[in-house]
Amino acid sequence: MKISPINTWLPLTAEPLLIAGPCGAESLEQLMATAKGLKELNKISLFRAGVWKPRTRPNAFEGKGEEALKWLNEVKKEFGFKITVEVANAQHTELALKYGIDVLWIGARTTVNPFSVQEIADVLKGVDIPVMVKNPVHADLQLWIGALERINNSGITKLAAVHRGFHFHDKTKYRNNPLWQLPIELRTLFPELPIICDPSHISGNRELIPSVAQKALDLGMNGLMIESHFDPSVALSDAEQQLTPKQLGELISKLILRKEVCTEDAVNKLSELRNIIDEIDEELIHVLKKRTQIIEQIGNYKKEHNITIFQLERWQELLRTRIQLAQKLGLSPNHVEKICQLLHEESIRIQNGLMNK
Ligand code: PEP
Ligand code: MN
Repeated sequence: MKISPINTWLPLTAEPLLIAGPCGAESLEQLMATAKGLKELNKISLFRAGVWKPRTRPNAFEGKGEEALKWLNEVKKEFGFKITVEVANAQHTELALKYGIDVLWIGARTTVNPFSVQEIADVLKGVDIPVMVKNPVHADLQLWIGALERINNSGITKLAAVHRGFHFHDKTKYRNNPLWQLPIELRTLFPELPIICDPSHISGNRELIPSVAQKALDLGMNGLMIESHFDPSVALSDAEQQLTPKQLGELISKLILRKEVCTEDAVNKLSELRNIIDEIDEELIHVLKKRTQIIEQIGNYKKEHNITIFQLERWQELLRTRIQLAQKLGLSPNHVEKICQLLHEESIRIQNGLMNK
């Protein structure tokens, strides 16, 4: 993918890069009051508002549509903000372009549907407008990449990904499970692609937002999208997760910015520590080789003596003792359990191979 650096299409007002505004555009008054509070912070680079809201059940607040695009132009005139809205189909996209919206974003419920994304991409052929693509609702990295590629194939290089967490079948403290390894994998595959974190939709409540925002900065994400409403208690959608502009200002002032480029001292210290990690990893791989050799001996013995590969008691005992040791050493038992499971799977695979020879 050919990607333009984010500073070529979104001038930075202050660090970290911040996109803020209400979940939904409800009225001109609501937008003006919110924008006024956000302008005073002097830290917002882009004003967001949903004008078409994808709601789970009908009869909830579904956004004000075209009328709200007019209000957003008032916000732009009054406060000088660049504006971004969510588009979910071709008609939304055409209207957003007609009203001079500066940046479009594709929501999580749209990213899941290649037909809708393609429909938007087709409208954007030959148009020079930045597009941000939220991750799909479920944890499918390929689907996220596919949506970015569809938009990119239309000639849009001003692209960003937005990490807003993933639906999870079990209850967690988050509204949407962050699964940080997914945006990290996206960064590894497309280092030039800016990734913006949306702590509001990950958290689902005000209390969790600061820690999620900090974690995003710690991981080197390029910016934050945070929902803000002049009075969240009367918000027509996502009331529990919106912050007043003042609360947002307090949150930002507490965030710690991490530098990507380090001082010479830091580079030296890190490279010293990384050398040690390299050696440890090498040792680990040698230990794995030794383990494999013993597994082969066990496999051959079981084959000669007609013994089944999987021995439940042995496996339970192995897991129990390893987790116990992990706990004693202050390692995460969960992490060690996952490693044991991988080792066990590999052991079964090797022994199966020997049996079938
Ligand atoms: C939103 O940003 O208000 C929104 C609907 O988000 P998502 O698509 O991430 O659910
Ligand atoms: Mn919302």
